[in-house]
Amino acid sequence: MFTPAPIQEIKDELLEKHQVRLLVKREDLIHPLIKGNKWYKLKYNLENARKQGFTKILTFGGAFSNHIYATASAGYLLGFQSIGIIRGEEHLPLNPVLSHAVSCGMEISYLDRATYRKKNEAQIINHLKEKFGDFYLVPEGGTNPWAVKGTEEILKNVDVAYNYVCCACGTGGTLAGLVAGASDDVQKIGFAVLKGDFLQKDVENLLQEAIKQQLIVDKLYLNWHVNNDYHFGGYAKVTTVLQDFVKDFSQKYPISIEPIYTGKLFYGIFDLISKGFFQKNSTVLAIHSGGVYS
Ligand SMILES: *Cc1c(COP(=O)(O)O)cnc(C)c1O
Repeated sequence: MFTPAPIQEIKDELLEKHQVRLLVKREDLIHPLIKGNKWYKLKYNLENARKQGFTKILTFGGAFSNHIYATASAGYLLGFQSIGIIRGEEHLPLNPVLSHAVSCGMEISYLDRATYRKKNEAQIINHLKEKFGDFYLVPEGGTNPWAVKGTEEILKNVDVAYNYVCCACGTGGTLAGLVAGASDDVQKIGFAVLKGDFLQKDVENLLQEAIKQQLIVDKLYLNWHVNNDYHFGGYAKVTTVLQDFVKDFSQKYPISIEPIYTGKLFYGIFDLISKGFFQKNSTVLAIHSGGVYS
């Protein structure tokens, strides 16, 4: 069902000048309906749900959420009933993400923003259980310790050597998996796409929780950090500088990126290269986590 993600090299004057090799692992190409990191995050959650006898999965997301898109696709392909709880009010006609979700059989329901903020509280969950019956809960963004077990596999079967691995960071579930999956001498860097300094702590907590549940090896994970310099003002915030970069990048290289996740990632990588952050003669592996839905 899934194609292994090819690794492509980007050639550029800037890279030559700084003697850095940039490789891109195209997780955006693994499946037409479940792109990028979202499959890795769902994989063991769904296996877990099935083992526990659940036929229904429920999750949360914004109206443009890649996670909602991927969960609806996975539900359809793997035979789960899926329910998507969407932040905010209904807007008709449905946008492409939600109309895809509905076409996969996902049941869509809305929570106003104030209630949505409290979505992890027992009272809200119980209310949802009364409404939809028993379900396996996949958290917003798909991130939990099971997701880390999945995202750890992104670095399996990579047969090239690299010194750095970089990804875009929303909830940090993907970075946590890269931290668990890469060897100690590889530096792992997550580029935060939203504002705030909480991701470093969130990823630490996720790793601890995954260790506790024996989903990843119990050891001290070092040589990783979250870079907070390239969020461009916050989640889904864009500037003309970022937009121009994304447009230029997509024209120069046969790789499409978008401004919400991968645009910020590659902008950050290129900016760090120009500042001499990466050591000479080193190789950077960037994870293309998907995100172009149309
Ligand atoms: C969801 C998403 C991310 C964020 O992944 P986290 O595990 O939440 O940090 C990054 N890139 C793309 C394209 C995504 O859709």
